[in-house]
Amino acid sequence: MDSKKPRCPKCSTEMSKITRHGVTIDKCMKCKGLWLDKGEMEKLLKLGK
Ligand SMILES: [Zn+2]
Repeated sequence: MDSKKPRCPKCSTEMSKITRHGVTIDKCMKCKGLWLDKGEMEKLLKLGK
């Protein structure tokens, strides 16, 4: 297991971690893409309802 920082699948830019409603999201500042782990996405969807 390595611990290198996640990179945007779209443009390969290093992503920043942001927190929304207690859920950590990887955000690409270049293309404004949001990338979530599967569990994180489910949490956000539940909170959004
Ligand atoms: Zn990107």
